[in-house]
Amino acid sequence: MESIQAVRGMNDILPGQIEWWQKVERLAREVLENFGYREIRTPVVEKLELFSRGIGESTDIVEKEMYAFADRKGERLALRPEATASVVRAYIQHNLQADPITQKFFCLGPMFRHERPQKGRYRQFHQIDAEAFGSDDPMLDAEIMYMLRILLERLGLTGVVLHINSLGCPECRKTYRNVLREYLLKQADAFCPDCLRRRDLNPLRVFDCKVERCQSLLEAAPMLLDSICSDCAAHFDKVKIYLDGLQTSHVINPRMVRGLDYYTRTAFEVVTDQLGAQNAVGGGGRYNGLVRDLGGPDLPGIGFAVGMERLILLLQQGQEAQRRMPKVFLAALGDSARHKGFFLTQELRTLGIETEMDYEGRSLKSQMRRADRLNVGHVLIMGEDELAAGRIQLRDMNSKEQFLVPVEKAIEMLKESYLKTIRQDFFP
Ligand code: AMP
Repeated sequence: MESIQAVRGMNDILPGQIEWWQKVERLAREVLENFGYREIRTPVVEKLELFSRGIGESTDIVEKEMYAFADRKGERLALRPEATASVVRAYIQHNLQADPITQKFFCLGPMFRHERPQKGRYRQFHQIDAEAFGSDDPMLDAEIMYMLRILLERLGLTGVVLHINSLGCPECRKTYRNVLREYLLKQADAFCPDCLRRRDLNPLRVFDCKVERCQSLLEAAPMLLDSICSDCAAHFDKVKIYLDGLQTSHVINPRMVRGLDYYTRTAFEVVTDQLGAQNAVGGGGRYNGLVRDLGGPDLPGIGFAVGMERLILLLQQGQEAQRRMPKVFLAALGDSARHKGFFLTQELRTLGIETEMDYEGRSLKSQMRRADRLNVGHVLIMGEDELAAGRIQLRDMNSKEQFLVPVEKAIEMLKESYLKTIRQDFFP
């Protein structure tokens, strides 16, 4: 019978790979929590309207890339293409602005966009997402970018560059929209049909166009950064000063507009030249009107999302995966030794020592070969004679030393070897 394959652009993450994910997730939790962010998990399915209203009807994400569908009752739903709208929805729905403890949240998990799959671009991908509500202070803008930098540094990533821009407030955007529309009208014939539609509907979105010709025409276009109001300009200046104070180097990129409508003022992106066409590792910005537009209080917000697949691709370059391996292998020979060995294996696992055994009644030689392949630190060898004497052979696979010891003593020695290191991990 023909086998069933995974959906195109949606990947399995297998043992051998998952270790990278666990490392990234562990460090992300650690860094974000140190900055006062608390984890939140929202459903992967939301009402379609959340995204069309939040991200914007005429964005590529909503127009072309969303997995939208009607459920059995005809309700219009979508797989989330990003996390911000969902976190804002949850913030409003649970009245989290009343929480005196925290206004900062993070979320790790899968997102879905129907893009053409290629290296670093998938249809199901994962993001580390951070959102902070309630303050328009430029300190917070600088702090969130600094946090992103620390996260990437903790992961050991180098060669990434922080691009920043200001997208202004709705007022300065209104002025700019007209200026840009004028420019686009002048060269109407040269732009692709999509851009012409964008021009009338939402001109800023022409910058998201992937057609090369449009991109080169836009090089001479007026820039939003040149028409922001004095308040927005002062805000942006302070962001830059705080970034300098935090020794966080950055490049001002007036062409970076991000593909979502909700951004106001600060926008940023972390880019790399090591991933071919998919050069963005993460990005974010301020969204001062979004909470209000989604039916909540008029509170500012700021956030970012980092793509975990891209992080892991970068981390893997030149590095071997560190596959998690059991610590101990129990090799037993003969029915009653296997019987006893089965219970001893469970006992060691319960104590917290990762242990593997043979379930197929193989020869001692083939069990030892398997232990070798699993790269364990110790093998416990139990035969009928040892069993009768209440003893077991404990073999250290590094030094190749082997001792015949009482079973209880072997357990103590393994606890000494493995549980101590776990304690050290937790309390360095
Ligand atoms: P965005 O909000 O679109 O800028 O996405 C933030 C980050 O998510 C990007 O910088 C990428 O690292 C990641 N990302 C976005 N779309 C995809 C995708 N289709 N496949 C893999 N990663 C993605």
